[in-house]
Amino acid sequence: LNIPEGHPRYRSLMIREALVRGLDEGLVGRAGLIAHGRGEAFDYMFGEKTNDFAMDAIIASAASLLLARHPVISVNGNVAALVRKETVTLSRLIPADIEVNLFYWTKDREQNIVRAFKKECPECIIHTQGNEKMIPGPTSERSRVSLEGILDADVVLVPLEDGDRVEYLSACNKRTIAVDLNPFSRTAKNADITIVDNVVRAFPALIEEVEKIREMSRAQLRELSKFDNRLNLERAIGLLKGRI
Ligand code: ATP
Ligand code: MG
Repeated sequence: LNIPEGHPRYRSLMIREALVRGLDEGLVGRAGLIAHGRGEAFDYMFGEKTNDFAMDAIIASAASLLLARHPVISVNGNVAALVRKETVTLSRLIPADIEVNLFYWTKDREQNIVRAFKKECPECIIHTQGNEKMIPGPTSERSRVSLEGILDADVVLVPLEDGDRVEYLSACNKRTIAVDLNPFSRTAKNADITIVDNVVRAFPALIEEVEKIREMSRAQLRELSKFDNRLNLERAIGLLKGRI
């Protein structure tokens, strides 16, 4: 597909193209395309930009990731297709592990995603869905986590997550950072920090923020990491109310 750059929906169409390519490459699950549609609708209403409330969440996230003993970035097919390079950059900068976690899990898709990340980052250790059940576990495949990865993590970045898993990760005393354009979702409500923004903008902004604050003292980082997620989601919902 050839999309002219001047097309008013250029960027949005390019994101769709990246997902369709990801589907053809065996990275994205078919349902991932539908999940994207829900996000896209919210993105349209939020003005397709990183709003103030998202930026505040990004700052708190950057600080939390830098303070973590063992931070892990959980990736699914959509993340692999949309922000693979940025995920690797983040993982090197913080540094943080990467773990593949799929709702519609197949060995094939898991391996395709691992291979795609390895190509981008040969030295990266990419954890996969192990057999260690989280307690109390969601019933989906997503409850399986890696012993050396998410099970041991204290801070988990979970972009485009399902609500169940965030709830259980929190129950396991892990600090959860979600990227979700839907401020009403269970994911958004259950996470400690929710970045209400498109992951294609949120990840580059997070990289920039980590670079900016990484030399700060732990005391300063702790100050930046303080966050009231409920209040922040209210700001996002407030913007929607205003626009409607
Ligand atoms: P739940 O209440 O279980 O959290 P949900 O609406 O979040 O439900 P999910 O299956 O978790 O349903 O759907 C994925 C979520 O990811 C959607 O809420 C959607 O808004 C969000 N999303 C999809 N694509 C993007 C994207 N590119 N950037 C940010 N968020 C996205
Ligand atoms: Mg969700």
